[in-house]
Amino acid sequence: KLVSREFHPESSIVNVGGVTIGGKSLVVMAGPCAVESREQLLESAEIVRAAGAQFLRGGAFKPRTSPYSFQGLEAKGLEYLAEARAKTGLKIVTEVMDISSVDLVAQYADMLQIGARNMQNFQLLRAVGRSGKPILLKRGIAATIDEWLHAAEYIVNEGNSQVVLCERGIRTYENYTRNTLDLSAVAAIKHLSHLPIIVDPSHGTGRWRMVRPMAMAAVAAGADGLMIEVHPDPAAALSDGPQSLNPVNYASLMADVRELSVFL
Ligand code: PEP
Ligand code: MN
Repeated sequence: KLVSREFHPESSIVNVGGVTIGGKSLVVMAGPCAVESREQLLESAEIVRAAGAQFLRGGAFKPRTSPYSFQGLEAKGLEYLAEARAKTGLKIVTEVMDISSVDLVAQYADMLQIGARNMQNFQLLRAVGRSGKPILLKRGIAATIDEWLHAAEYIVNEGNSQVVLCERGIRTYENYTRNTLDLSAVAAIKHLSHLPIIVDPSHGTGRWRMVRPMAMAAVAAGADGLMIEVHPDPAAALSDGPQSLNPVNYASLMADVRELSVFL
């Protein structure tokens, strides 16, 4: 397989407009679950920039469990993300949910996110493979590591080698946490594949109190970066408030991660 370490023994470094993912550096992608308004996004961007991350995240198209939940600002949300990039210099990573919006999202984003629910949407994987954009491929809600790597293979097979994996927890019998964050996947992927892997402890736990310890553990386990949900006012968030860090806790997490990364 193209994504296997057997095929390509050197660890790959993915370059997103000058920001590298993989190798010695640690990348942080942070921001709200969803783009909710211009004010909310610009405020989030400033919080993220001030704490020292490289990417702003935020969904304009949201894969919500219920059709009655907030579905995202769509094209307007993409415009706000581009404005936040212009103001802060942060790279933008945002989800694309279907083939018909790949071109639109690719016009605004620096990196396209394939969400957990679409990890085996094979036609979408092919389409983002042809987009020429770096891809963040989240692990499916119940995907094995083998299925996840095959999903990455679909993208790379279209000629796009700029793929970063993201462990975001899997469905198990445990329901104290929203998902079970599989940090062992970091070690497994490092052995099996040359692709960089980051960890999302926000979706991985669903609980903001658990984000800091799991982020630290992910770095210690060898992850190439983190995806963290942060909101100016988590209690008022339109999605994923319970797992979102407030600005103070986010800045403190970033300080801790920086201290830990000295040992890498
Ligand atoms: C997200 O990153 O906001 C998201 C929906 O994540 P996942 O696809 O991992 O559930
Ligand atoms: Mn979310």
